[in-house]
Amino acid sequence: MTTDSETLHCPTHGESQATYICEHLADNAAQRWHCDYPSQDNPSPDAWCDRCNAEFLKQGAWNEANQGRINIKLFCLSCYERRKGESISYMDAASGKQWEAFVSGCCEELTKKNEHLWQRLSLTSYKRWDWSQDTAELVFSNDDVPGVIARIAFVGSFSTKSETWLWAWANFNLVEAIREPAIAVRDYGEQKDFLPLTIPKWSATQEDGWHMAAVAARILGAEGAYRTPSDYGFTFMVLHDVRTV
Ligand SMILES: [Zn+2]
Ligand SMILES: [Zn+2]
Repeated sequence: MTTDSETLHCPTHGESQATYICEHLADNAAQRWHCDYPSQDNPSPDAWCDRCNAEFLKQGAWNEANQGRINIKLFCLSCYERRKGESISYMDAASGKQWEAFVSGCCEELTKKNEHLWQRLSLTSYKRWDWSQDTAELVFSNDDVPGVIARIAFVGSFSTKSETWLWAWANFNLVEAIREPAIAVRDYGEQKDFLPLTIPKWSATQEDGWHMAAVAARILGAEGAYRTPSDYGFTFMVLHDVRTV
């Protein structure tokens, strides 16, 4: 397979970067995807299924000996992301149950943490909030006077336009300092086989945004979480070192 940034024309999405997945994932995306995590240089790493992975493992790479054993389909980046998002439904029953229990435990915990934080620092008394990627801080203020400052790590964003969740670790529009803490959440998902934590972008509701913020608050040991509106949805972040100034 090639990772050259070739382009293609998608009938739905128009001109786009070409992405490569095996024919089996193209037919049925709801199965395990073997591929690297997206990076700034390669937002859509080549992907293949379990069956093709058995061929891959025989050689440890795609080469002349096994390349003929995989049939590749080309998709545009949006079609690739949508298909990859569909693989979220591939979680076995046991992991699914553990996941639900984990999320609900994290949500209960976050509710308590946020209640405590808001009471302790009277956060509802501030008229304004501002965050900055450069300082990685969220500032609550009144009439230009800062009152409370928190260190922030982005969790992800919910788009009301596409109704999708996008993890901060896969959002390369963010600066590294604010994007990278969420990698620990992904690592946890990898360990536990919790697919929603390891798939970059998936079909979601606004509530899912709070759920992922709660999960991130637990894993990152945050004091609370916050949500701010953006042009097309909401940005979710966790708060550390929350203090009055
Ligand atoms: Zn395959
Ligand atoms: Zn497309």
